[in-house]
Amino acid sequence: MGDHPSGKGQPNLWTTALGQFDAAADRLSLSRNVRAALRMAERELIVNFPVRMDDGDIRMFTGYRVQHNITRGPAKGGVRYTDDLTLDDTRALAMWMTWKCAVMDIPFGGAKGGVVVDPHTLSARELERLTRRYATEVSILIGPNSDIPAPDINTDAQIMAWIMDTYSMHQGYSVPAVVTGKPLAIGGSEGRNEAPARSVMMALRRAAEDAHIALKGAAVAVQGFGHVGGIVAEYLRGEDVRVVAVSDTSGGVYHRDGLDIPALLRHKRATGKVSGFAGAQRELSGAETLEVECDVLIPAARENQLTSENAGRLQTRLVVEAANGPTTPAADETLRARGIPVVPDILANAGGVAVSYFEWVQDLQSFFWDEEEIELKLDRVMDLAYAAVQRTARQHEVDQRMAAQMLAIQRIADSTDVRGIYP
Ligand code: NAD
Repeated sequence: MGDHPSGKGQPNLWTTALGQFDAAADRLSLSRNVRAALRMAERELIVNFPVRMDDGDIRMFTGYRVQHNITRGPAKGGVRYTDDLTLDDTRALAMWMTWKCAVMDIPFGGAKGGVVVDPHTLSARELERLTRRYATEVSILIGPNSDIPAPDINTDAQIMAWIMDTYSMHQGYSVPAVVTGKPLAIGGSEGRNEAPARSVMMALRRAAEDAHIALKGAAVAVQGFGHVGGIVAEYLRGEDVRVVAVSDTSGGVYHRDGLDIPALLRHKRATGKVSGFAGAQRELSGAETLEVECDVLIPAARENQLTSENAGRLQTRLVVEAANGPTTPAADETLRARGIPVVPDILANAGGVAVSYFEWVQDLQSFFWDEEEIELKLDRVMDLAYAAVQRTARQHEVDQRMAAQMLAIQRIADSTDVRGIYP
Protein backbone atom coordinates (compact mmCIF):
# COMPACT_ATOMS: atom_id res chain seq x y z
CA MET A 1 0.00 0.00 0.00
CA GLY A 2 1.32 3.45 -0.84
CA ASP A 3 0.87 6.65 1.14
CA HIS A 4 -1.89 8.99 -0.03
CA PRO A 5 -0.24 12.29 -0.67
CA SER A 6 -2.02 15.45 0.48
CA GLY A 7 -1.22 18.98 -0.57
CA LYS A 8 1.83 18.79 1.71
CA GLY A 9 3.17 15.77 -0.21
CA GLN A 10 2.36 13.61 2.79
CA PRO A 11 -0.56 11.36 3.65
CA ASN A 12 -3.69 13.29 4.58
CA LEU A 13 -4.11 12.68 8.32
CA TRP A 14 -7.89 12.45 8.12
CA THR A 15 -7.61 9.77 5.38
CA THR A 16 -5.15 7.94 7.64
CA ALA A 17 -7.41 8.20 10.70
CA LEU A 18 -10.49 7.05 8.75
CA GLY A 19 -8.58 4.13 7.20
CA GLN A 20 -7.45 3.00 10.64
CA PHE A 21 -10.98 3.38 12.01
CA ASP A 22 -12.55 1.39 9.14
CA ALA A 23 -10.05 -1.44 9.63
CA ALA A 24 -10.73 -1.60 13.38
CA ALA A 25 -14.51 -1.33 12.83
CA ASP A 26 -14.34 -4.24 10.34
CA ARG A 27 -12.47 -6.37 12.87
CA LEU A 28 -15.06 -5.54 15.53
CA SER A 29 -17.98 -6.10 13.13
CA LEU A 30 -19.21 -2.72 14.38
CA SER A 31 -22.86 -1.97 13.64
CA ARG A 32 -23.56 0.20 10.60
CA ASN A 33 -25.17 2.92 12.74
CA VAL A 34 -22.34 3.32 15.27
CA ARG A 35 -19.81 3.19 12.44
CA ALA A 36 -21.58 6.01 10.60
CA ALA A 37 -21.69 8.14 13.76
CA LEU A 38 -18.01 7.65 14.63
CA ARG A 39 -16.80 8.29 11.06
CA MET A 40 -17.66 11.98 11.40
CA ALA A 41 -16.65 14.70 13.82
CA GLU A 42 -19.65 15.97 15.82
CA ARG A 43 -18.72 19.66 15.75
CA GLU A 44 -16.26 21.58 13.56
CA LEU A 45 -15.65 25.27 14.04
CA ILE A 46 -13.56 27.44 11.68
CA VAL A 47 -12.77 30.94 12.91
CA ASN A 48 -11.18 33.81 10.98
CA PHE A 49 -10.19 36.64 13.24
CA PRO A 50 -8.13 39.86 13.28
CA VAL A 51 -5.14 40.51 15.51
CA ARG A 52 -3.47 43.89 15.95
CA MET A 53 0.26 43.54 15.34
CA ASP A 54 2.85 45.61 17.21
CA ASP A 55 3.30 47.97 14.23
CA GLY A 56 -0.43 48.81 14.29
CA ASP A 57 -1.29 46.65 11.28
CA ILE A 58 -4.22 44.23 11.47
CA ARG A 59 -3.55 40.65 10.35
CA MET A 60 -6.20 37.97 9.80
CA PHE A 61 -5.66 34.48 11.22
CA THR A 62 -7.56 31.21 10.82
CA GLY A 63 -8.18 28.80 13.70
CA TYR A 64 -10.06 25.56 14.25
CA ARG A 65 -11.72 23.64 17.05
CA VAL A 66 -13.11 20.19 16.32
CA GLN A 67 -14.99 17.93 18.73
CA HIS A 68 -14.94 14.43 17.34
CA ASN A 69 -17.07 12.60 19.91
CA ILE A 70 -18.46 13.47 23.36
CA THR A 71 -20.41 10.31 24.21
CA ARG A 72 -18.27 9.44 27.23
CA GLY A 73 -17.74 12.97 28.60
CA PRO A 74 -16.58 16.51 27.77
CA ALA A 75 -14.31 16.94 24.76
CA LYS A 76 -10.58 17.06 25.51
CA GLY A 77 -7.65 17.91 23.29
CA GLY A 78 -4.69 20.15 22.65
CA VAL A 79 -4.30 23.45 20.85
CA ARG A 80 -1.39 23.77 18.43
CA TYR A 81 0.07 26.75 16.61
CA THR A 82 1.60 25.62 13.32
CA ASP A 83 1.73 27.31 9.94
CA ASP A 84 0.57 24.20 8.06
CA LEU A 85 -2.43 23.22 10.22
CA THR A 86 -5.55 22.18 8.27
CA LEU A 87 -9.12 21.29 9.20
CA ASP A 88 -8.43 17.70 8.11
CA ASP A 89 -5.40 17.49 10.44
CA THR A 90 -7.49 18.87 13.29
CA ARG A 91 -10.28 16.34 12.60
CA ALA A 92 -7.84 13.43 12.61
CA LEU A 93 -6.12 14.59 15.80
CA ALA A 94 -9.56 15.02 17.44
CA MET A 95 -10.57 11.48 16.44
CA TRP A 96 -7.30 10.11 17.88
CA MET A 97 -8.05 12.00 21.12
CA THR A 98 -11.42 10.20 21.32
CA TRP A 99 -9.63 6.86 21.02
CA LYS A 100 -6.87 7.91 23.43
CA CYS A 101 -9.29 8.89 26.22
CA ALA A 102 -11.23 5.66 25.73
CA VAL A 103 -8.08 3.49 25.74
CA MET A 104 -7.14 5.10 29.05
CA ASP A 105 -10.74 4.67 30.23
CA ILE A 106 -10.97 8.38 31.04
CA PRO A 107 -14.46 9.99 30.93
CA PHE A 108 -13.63 12.44 28.15
CA GLY A 109 -14.36 12.63 24.45
CA GLY A 110 -11.91 13.84 21.81
CA ALA A 111 -11.18 17.32 20.48
CA LYS A 112 -8.35 19.28 18.90
CA GLY A 113 -7.77 22.84 17.87
CA GLY A 114 -5.22 25.34 16.77
CA VAL A 115 -4.29 28.38 14.76
CA VAL A 116 -2.55 28.50 11.41
CA VAL A 117 0.52 30.47 12.48
CA ASP A 118 4.23 30.12 13.06
CA PRO A 119 4.37 31.64 16.56
CA HIS A 120 8.13 32.20 16.26
CA THR A 121 7.30 35.10 13.92
CA LEU A 122 5.22 36.86 16.61
CA SER A 123 6.27 39.02 19.54
CA ALA A 124 5.16 37.99 23.05
CA ARG A 125 2.41 40.68 23.02
CA GLU A 126 1.18 39.56 19.58
CA LEU A 127 1.12 35.94 20.77
CA GLU A 128 -0.97 36.94 23.78
CA ARG A 129 -3.42 38.96 21.65
CA LEU A 130 -3.74 36.10 19.14
CA THR A 131 -4.35 33.59 21.95
CA ARG A 132 -6.96 35.73 23.71
CA ARG A 133 -8.82 36.39 20.46
CA TYR A 134 -8.71 32.69 19.45
CA ALA A 135 -10.00 31.74 22.94
CA THR A 136 -12.86 34.23 22.53
CA GLU A 137 -13.72 32.93 19.06
CA VAL A 138 -13.88 29.29 20.22
CA SER A 139 -15.59 30.17 23.53
CA ILE A 140 -18.89 29.04 21.98
CA LEU A 141 -17.48 25.51 22.24
CA ILE A 142 -14.98 25.42 25.11
CA GLY A 143 -15.89 25.27 28.79
CA PRO A 144 -15.19 23.16 31.88
CA ASN A 145 -18.20 20.93 31.18
CA SER A 146 -18.03 20.92 27.41
CA ASP A 147 -14.53 21.12 25.92
CA ILE A 148 -11.21 21.52 27.71
CA PRO A 149 -8.10 22.59 25.73
CA ALA A 150 -4.48 21.72 26.67
CA PRO A 151 -0.99 22.49 25.31
CA ASP A 152 0.31 20.89 22.12
CA ILE A 153 2.88 21.83 19.48
CA ASN A 154 4.16 25.41 20.03
CA THR A 155 1.77 26.11 22.92
CA ASP A 156 2.57 25.96 26.63
CA ALA A 157 1.42 26.68 30.18
CA GLN A 158 1.51 30.47 29.60
CA ILE A 159 -0.79 30.15 26.60
CA MET A 160 -3.16 28.00 28.68
CA ALA A 161 -3.10 30.71 31.37
CA TRP A 162 -4.17 33.34 28.79
CA ILE A 163 -7.00 31.08 27.57
CA MET A 164 -8.13 30.47 31.16
CA ASP A 165 -8.00 34.19 31.96
CA THR A 166 -9.88 35.19 28.79
CA TYR A 167 -12.63 32.65 29.41
CA SER A 168 -12.84 33.68 33.09
CA MET A 169 -13.12 37.39 32.18
CA HIS A 170 -16.13 36.60 30.00
CA GLN A 171 -17.77 34.62 32.82
CA GLY A 172 -16.98 37.17 35.52
CA TYR A 173 -15.30 34.66 37.81
CA SER A 174 -12.28 32.31 37.65
CA VAL A 175 -12.79 29.05 35.79
CA PRO A 176 -9.55 27.07 36.20
CA ALA A 177 -11.11 23.83 34.88
CA VAL A 178 -11.57 25.27 31.37
CA VAL A 179 -7.99 24.31 30.40
CA THR A 180 -5.34 21.87 31.60
CA GLY A 181 -1.59 22.10 31.41
CA LYS A 182 -1.72 25.55 33.04
CA PRO A 183 0.71 26.91 35.64
CA LEU A 184 0.50 25.54 39.20
CA ALA A 185 -0.28 29.04 40.52
CA ILE A 186 -3.72 29.06 38.86
CA GLY A 187 -4.82 25.45 39.39
CA GLY A 188 -2.37 23.44 37.32
CA SER A 189 -1.43 19.95 38.44
CA GLU A 190 1.80 18.54 39.73
CA GLY A 191 3.27 16.20 37.15
CA ARG A 192 1.30 17.48 34.13
CA ASN A 193 4.36 18.78 32.31
CA GLU A 194 6.21 15.47 32.60
CA ALA A 195 3.14 13.25 32.11
CA PRO A 196 3.39 12.46 28.36
CA ALA A 197 7.10 11.66 28.75
CA ARG A 198 6.40 9.59 31.86
CA SER A 199 3.87 7.43 30.02
CA VAL A 200 6.24 7.09 27.06
CA MET A 201 8.85 5.76 29.48
CA MET A 202 6.38 3.32 31.03
CA ALA A 203 5.32 2.03 27.62
CA LEU A 204 8.96 1.83 26.55
CA ARG A 205 9.97 -0.26 29.60
CA ARG A 206 7.11 -2.68 29.14
CA ALA A 207 7.53 -2.96 25.36
CA ALA A 208 11.32 -3.41 25.64
CA GLU A 209 10.74 -6.25 28.07
CA ASP A 210 8.23 -7.84 25.69
CA ALA A 211 10.73 -7.48 22.81
CA HIS A 212 13.63 -8.82 24.95
CA ILE A 213 15.59 -5.57 24.72
CA ALA A 214 17.73 -4.83 27.79
CA LEU A 215 17.37 -1.09 28.43
CA LYS A 216 20.62 -0.67 30.34
CA GLY A 217 23.12 0.46 27.71
CA ALA A 218 20.53 0.31 24.91
CA ALA A 219 20.81 2.89 22.10
CA VAL A 220 17.81 5.18 21.61
CA ALA A 221 17.14 7.87 19.00
CA VAL A 222 14.67 10.69 19.73
CA GLN A 223 13.16 12.90 17.02
CA GLY A 224 11.94 16.22 18.49
CA PHE A 225 13.40 17.97 21.51
CA GLY A 226 10.39 19.93 22.82
CA HIS A 227 8.09 19.42 25.79
CA VAL A 228 7.70 15.72 25.17
CA GLY A 229 10.96 14.71 23.43
CA GLY A 230 13.20 16.81 25.70
CA ILE A 231 11.82 15.26 28.88
CA VAL A 232 11.86 11.75 27.38
CA ALA A 233 15.56 12.21 26.55
CA GLU A 234 16.25 13.40 30.11
CA TYR A 235 14.45 10.40 31.60
CA LEU A 236 16.29 8.00 29.28
CA ARG A 237 19.65 9.39 30.29
CA GLY A 238 18.66 8.88 33.95
CA GLU A 239 18.07 5.20 33.19
CA ASP A 240 21.55 4.53 31.76
CA VAL A 241 20.18 4.38 28.25
CA ARG A 242 22.45 5.78 25.53
CA VAL A 243 20.54 8.55 23.75
CA VAL A 244 22.67 8.30 20.62
CA ALA A 245 20.72 10.75 18.41
CA VAL A 246 18.41 13.71 18.98
CA SER A 247 16.92 16.07 16.39
CA ASP A 248 14.76 19.15 16.11
CA THR A 249 13.85 21.34 13.14
CA SER A 250 17.51 22.47 12.89
CA GLY A 251 18.78 18.91 12.25
CA GLY A 252 20.24 16.20 14.47
CA VAL A 253 23.25 15.43 16.65
CA TYR A 254 24.89 12.06 17.30
CA HIS A 255 27.16 10.44 19.86
CA ARG A 256 27.78 6.69 19.88
CA ASP A 257 28.26 6.62 23.69
CA GLY A 258 25.15 8.68 24.34
CA LEU A 259 24.66 12.45 24.25
CA ASP A 260 24.99 14.47 27.45
CA ILE A 261 21.30 15.45 27.63
CA PRO A 262 21.51 18.10 30.39
CA ALA A 263 24.30 19.80 28.38
CA LEU A 264 22.26 19.48 25.18
CA LEU A 265 19.24 21.04 26.93
CA ARG A 266 21.43 23.96 28.04
CA HIS A 267 22.72 24.34 24.46
CA LYS A 268 19.14 24.26 23.12
CA ARG A 269 18.03 26.88 25.65
CA ALA A 270 20.95 29.12 24.74
CA THR A 271 20.81 28.79 20.95
CA GLY A 272 17.26 27.59 20.27
CA LYS A 273 18.45 24.47 18.42
CA VAL A 274 20.26 21.15 18.93
CA SER A 275 22.61 21.54 15.94
CA GLY A 276 25.99 23.07 16.71
CA PHE A 277 26.21 21.14 19.99
CA ALA A 278 29.89 20.84 20.91
CA GLY A 279 29.35 17.51 22.71
CA ALA A 280 28.27 15.70 19.52
CA GLN A 281 30.53 13.36 17.52
CA ARG A 282 28.78 14.41 14.34
CA GLU A 283 25.81 16.31 12.99
CA LEU A 284 22.95 14.52 11.25
CA SER A 285 20.19 15.65 8.96
CA GLY A 286 16.67 15.26 10.32
CA ALA A 287 16.12 12.29 8.01
CA GLU A 288 19.37 10.60 9.11
CA THR A 289 18.32 10.82 12.76
CA LEU A 290 15.39 8.50 12.09
CA GLU A 291 17.61 6.01 10.32
CA VAL A 292 20.51 5.67 12.78
CA GLU A 293 21.23 2.24 14.18
CA CYS A 294 19.46 1.96 17.54
CA ASP A 295 17.43 -0.36 19.74
CA VAL A 296 14.50 2.01 20.18
CA LEU A 297 13.30 4.87 17.99
CA ILE A 298 11.08 7.53 19.59
CA PRO A 299 9.42 9.95 17.16
CA ALA A 300 8.43 12.91 19.40
CA ALA A 301 7.98 15.73 16.88
CA ARG A 302 5.24 15.69 14.25
CA GLU A 303 2.90 13.47 12.28
CA ASN A 304 3.90 11.61 9.07
CA GLN A 305 7.59 11.11 9.92
CA LEU A 306 7.88 7.33 9.41
CA THR A 307 6.70 6.86 5.83
CA SER A 308 6.71 4.41 2.92
CA GLU A 309 9.92 6.11 1.88
CA ASN A 310 12.04 5.52 5.02
CA ALA A 311 10.33 2.65 6.91
CA GLY A 312 12.38 0.03 5.05
CA ARG A 313 15.63 1.73 6.09
CA LEU A 314 14.96 2.14 9.83
CA GLN A 315 17.61 0.33 11.87
CA THR A 316 15.67 -0.08 15.09
CA ARG A 317 14.12 -2.98 16.99
CA LEU A 318 11.21 -1.06 18.50
CA VAL A 319 9.27 2.16 17.84
CA VAL A 320 7.53 4.02 20.68
CA GLU A 321 5.33 6.86 19.41
CA ALA A 322 5.61 9.94 21.62
CA ALA A 323 4.23 12.22 18.87
CA ASN A 324 0.67 11.92 17.59
CA GLY A 325 0.37 10.21 14.21
CA PRO A 326 4.10 9.94 13.38
CA THR A 327 3.69 6.69 11.40
CA THR A 328 1.82 6.53 8.08
CA PRO A 329 -0.30 3.44 7.30
CA ALA A 330 2.23 2.37 4.64
CA ALA A 331 5.07 2.60 7.16
CA ASP A 332 2.98 0.66 9.67
CA GLU A 333 2.65 -2.12 7.11
CA THR A 334 6.38 -2.17 6.38
CA LEU A 335 7.29 -2.22 10.07
CA ARG A 336 4.80 -5.02 10.70
CA ALA A 337 6.32 -7.05 7.85
CA ARG A 338 9.81 -6.38 9.24
CA GLY A 339 8.74 -7.55 12.72
CA ILE A 340 9.43 -4.17 14.36
CA PRO A 341 6.77 -3.55 17.05
CA VAL A 342 5.20 -0.08 17.28
CA VAL A 343 3.70 1.14 20.57
CA PRO A 344 0.99 3.50 19.28
CA ASP A 345 0.62 7.17 20.22
CA ILE A 346 -2.84 6.74 21.77
CA LEU A 347 -1.28 4.47 24.37
CA ALA A 348 2.33 5.66 24.67
CA ASN A 349 1.80 9.42 25.11
CA ALA A 350 -1.58 9.16 26.86
CA GLY A 351 -0.07 10.13 30.22
CA GLY A 352 -0.63 13.71 29.07
CA VAL A 353 -4.38 13.37 28.88
CA ALA A 354 -4.51 11.18 32.00
CA VAL A 355 -2.90 13.87 34.15
CA SER A 356 -5.00 16.51 32.35
CA TYR A 357 -8.00 14.56 33.63
CA PHE A 358 -6.51 14.61 37.15
CA GLU A 359 -5.93 18.35 36.81
CA TRP A 360 -9.55 18.92 35.76
CA VAL A 361 -10.85 16.81 38.67
CA GLN A 362 -8.65 18.74 41.14
CA ASP A 363 -9.87 22.08 39.70
CA LEU A 364 -13.54 21.06 39.96
CA GLN A 365 -13.18 20.03 43.59
CA SER A 366 -10.66 22.79 44.46
CA PHE A 367 -8.58 20.22 46.27
CA PHE A 368 -5.09 19.38 45.08
CA TRP A 369 -2.98 16.24 45.22
CA ASP A 370 0.79 15.99 45.63
CA GLU A 371 3.12 14.66 42.96
CA GLU A 372 3.38 11.24 44.55
CA GLU A 373 -0.37 10.77 44.39
CA ILE A 374 -0.50 11.92 40.76
CA GLU A 375 2.28 9.52 39.78
CA LEU A 376 0.64 6.61 41.57
CA LYS A 377 -2.67 7.29 39.85
CA LEU A 378 -1.02 7.73 36.45
CA ASP A 379 0.96 4.51 36.81
CA ARG A 380 -2.23 2.65 37.68
CA VAL A 381 -4.22 4.02 34.70
CA MET A 382 -1.31 3.37 32.37
CA ASP A 383 -0.72 -0.17 33.62
CA LEU A 384 -4.36 -1.06 33.10
CA ALA A 385 -4.41 0.47 29.62
CA TYR A 386 -1.17 -1.23 28.56
CA ALA A 387 -2.40 -4.61 29.79
CA ALA A 388 -5.81 -4.19 28.12
CA VAL A 389 -4.16 -3.34 24.78
CA GLN A 390 -1.83 -6.36 24.94
CA ARG A 391 -4.77 -8.60 25.85
CA THR A 392 -6.79 -7.31 22.89
CA ALA A 393 -3.79 -7.76 20.59
CA ARG A 394 -3.34 -11.38 21.65
CA GLN A 395 -7.04 -12.17 21.54
CA HIS A 396 -7.54 -10.81 18.02
CA GLU A 397 -4.00 -11.50 16.75
CA VAL A 398 -3.50 -7.88 15.68
CA ASP A 399 -0.77 -5.29 16.18
CA GLN A 400 -0.87 -2.80 19.05
CA ARG A 401 -2.29 0.13 17.07
CA MET A 402 -5.18 -1.98 15.84
CA ALA A 403 -5.68 -3.42 19.34
CA ALA A 404 -5.70 0.01 21.01
CA GLN A 405 -8.21 1.36 18.49
CA MET A 406 -10.43 -1.74 18.75
CA LEU A 407 -10.46 -1.45 22.54
CA ALA A 408 -11.33 2.26 22.36
CA ILE A 409 -13.97 1.93 19.66
CA GLN A 410 -15.67 -0.94 21.48
CA ARG A 411 -15.87 1.14 24.68
CA ILE A 412 -17.39 4.07 22.78
CA ALA A 413 -19.78 1.79 20.89
CA ASP A 414 -20.97 0.34 24.21
CA SER A 415 -21.56 3.85 25.60
CA THR A 416 -23.40 4.88 22.41
CA ASP A 417 -25.60 1.77 22.53
CA VAL A 418 -26.62 2.26 26.12
CA ARG A 419 -27.30 5.99 25.69
CA GLY A 420 -29.26 5.49 22.47
CA ILE A 421 -29.72 8.00 19.66
CA TYR A 422 -31.51 11.23 20.63
CA PRO A 423 -34.41 11.90 20.22
P1 NAD B 1 6.90 21.15 21.11
O1 NAD B 1 6.50 22.27 20.23
O2 NAD B 1 7.27 21.43 22.52
O3 NAD B 1 8.15 20.36 20.46
C1 NAD B 1 8.17 19.88 19.17
C2 NAD B 1 9.62 19.53 18.85
O4 NAD B 1 9.68 18.85 17.59
C3 NAD B 1 10.53 20.73 18.73
O5 NAD B 1 11.80 20.41 19.31
C4 NAD B 1 10.69 20.91 17.21
O6 NAD B 1 11.91 21.55 16.85
C5 NAD B 1 10.68 19.46 16.78
N1 NAD B 1 10.34 19.22 15.39
C6 NAD B 1 9.30 19.73 14.66
N2 NAD B 1 9.34 19.25 13.40
C7 NAD B 1 10.42 18.43 13.33
C8 NAD B 1 11.01 17.65 12.32
N3 NAD B 1 10.48 17.60 11.10
N4 NAD B 1 12.13 16.92 12.61
C9 NAD B 1 12.68 16.96 13.84
N5 NAD B 1 12.17 17.69 14.85
C10 NAD B 1 11.07 18.42 14.59
O7 NAD B 1 5.70 20.09 21.01
P2 NAD B 1 5.37 18.90 22.01
O8 NAD B 1 4.31 19.37 22.94
O9 NAD B 1 6.64 18.29 22.51
O10 NAD B 1 4.66 17.89 21.00
C11 NAD B 1 5.39 16.95 20.22
C12 NAD B 1 4.44 15.83 19.80
O11 NAD B 1 3.90 15.22 20.98
C13 NAD B 1 3.25 16.28 18.98
O12 NAD B 1 2.91 15.26 18.06
C14 NAD B 1 2.15 16.42 20.02
O13 NAD B 1 0.85 16.30 19.45
C15 NAD B 1 2.49 15.24 20.91
N6 NAD B 1 1.95 15.29 22.28
C16 NAD B 1 2.11 16.40 23.06
C17 NAD B 1 1.59 16.40 24.35
C18 NAD B 1 1.75 17.57 25.27
O14 NAD B 1 1.15 17.54 26.36
N7 NAD B 1 2.51 18.59 24.94
C19 NAD B 1 0.91 15.28 24.83
C20 NAD B 1 0.79 14.16 24.02
C21 NAD B 1 1.31 14.19 22.73
